[in-house]
Amino acid sequence: MAKIKMTIPIVEMDGDEMTRILWKMIKEHLLEPYIELNTEYYDLGLEHRNETNDQVTVDSANATKKYKVAVKCATITPNAARMTEYDLKEMWKSPNGTIRAILDGTVFRAPIVVKGIEPYVRNWKKPITIARHAYGDVYKASEMKIPGAGKAELVYTAEDGTETRELIHNFDGPGIIQGMHNIHKSIESFARSCFNYALDTKQDLWFASKDTISKKYDHTFKDIFQEIFDAEYKEKFDEAGIVYFYTLIDDAVARVMKSEGGYIWACKNYDGDVMSDMVSSAFGSLAMMTSVLVSPDGYYEYEAAHGTVQRHYYKHLRGEETSTNSVATIFAWTGALRKRGELDGNQDLMEFADRLEKVTVDTIESGEMTKDLALITTLENPTVLNSEDFIKAIAKRL
Ligand code: NAP
Ligand code: MG
Repeated sequence: MAKIKMTIPIVEMDGDEMTRILWKMIKEHLLEPYIELNTEYYDLGLEHRNETNDQVTVDSANATKKYKVAVKCATITPNAARMTEYDLKEMWKSPNGTIRAILDGTVFRAPIVVKGIEPYVRNWKKPITIARHAYGDVYKASEMKIPGAGKAELVYTAEDGTETRELIHNFDGPGIIQGMHNIHKSIESFARSCFNYALDTKQDLWFASKDTISKKYDHTFKDIFQEIFDAEYKEKFDEAGIVYFYTLIDDAVARVMKSEGGYIWACKNYDGDVMSDMVSSAFGSLAMMTSVLVSPDGYYEYEAAHGTVQRHYYKHLRGEETSTNSVATIFAWTGALRKRGELDGNQDLMEFADRLEKVTVDTIESGEMTKDLALITTLENPTVLNSEDFIKAIAKRL
């Protein structure tokens, strides 16, 4: 069989730990035998980020602007423990944060639903897609430790030098403060990405924040969504038979638990971070959650929603067998390959992506799966496979 050709590369962002091991296996067993894989490779493994003073992360994001499609492996976000473990020059920022800041846009996360893995929430019948705003708020905040008594203020200095001040707190002892921001342009593109994605997938759109408490910050999000909806999308939503509604974040959480699923839940940056882990775990496994960053300029970055699975990696290093689920990482590749195919009119590449997804789901539904799924499946007598054998079982069907 002739291998499928790719004229334009996709940006390949390699990563860390167990997912880096899976990455190599996926390429070797599932992609390279069928595709003349054309990628521009960036090593975002922590060692190389450290060597390049994190320039490689910036370069990979800029390459995504050039080629429009990227696929990313999970990466370590350094903390104090990693500083010693990797002998880091600096506590480098989260690569995802850096990439999102450069590309802007919205992250859509949806569970991969398979028969035999039933959601913990009994009434959830359809996937719930979380749309996470990928810019600003606490991820771009400035923080300060307040050593003792004194006054903390927010100060805005306009270009003409005029100052506007808002008291944060009159401290009479030590404390902490945080200043965060967002920009109208980013909130507007977040809103438009969500409305467009809802129309594309014919799903209702929910949006929630805490505007009753945050009367300026969160309220601005609410207002921008409503203005754009009324001006640009209301009729299209009516025609498509879908709805947009806004509610308070706590009300949304309560409604989500009682719902059937089958809608997009738009969340501010932090809410989306937290709620996507809740939704994916409740649907079965973090390893069954896909994730794509869609920028307003039409750039796409696909990844798994989970991390580098550190605990499994240490087992792997000790020479022990691991059973790490590669499904979300496989779907990151298929998402990127399908999008590359769509943009380039490469039908073979799109069909390959569909087929790889189908055989991956078939493999699990036939009872061959990794340990995380075997523990929760309703299928009887599942076969638990190790990391590599699971990928080989998919390759066999492919
Ligand atoms: P994690 O890698 O998502 O893993 C947490 C736990 O979830 C694992 O220990 C494992 O549970 C289970 N799990 C997650 N993915 C799995 C998979 N594919 N197959 C089987 N089980 C899976 O989160 P973490 O351990 O908190 O973080 C590790 C590193 O990842 C950190 O350095 C963090 O900075 C980074 N991280 C990166 C991203 C990203 O790049 N997008 C996202 C989140 C975290 P058991 O151990 O019980 O088997
Ligand atoms: Mg998270």
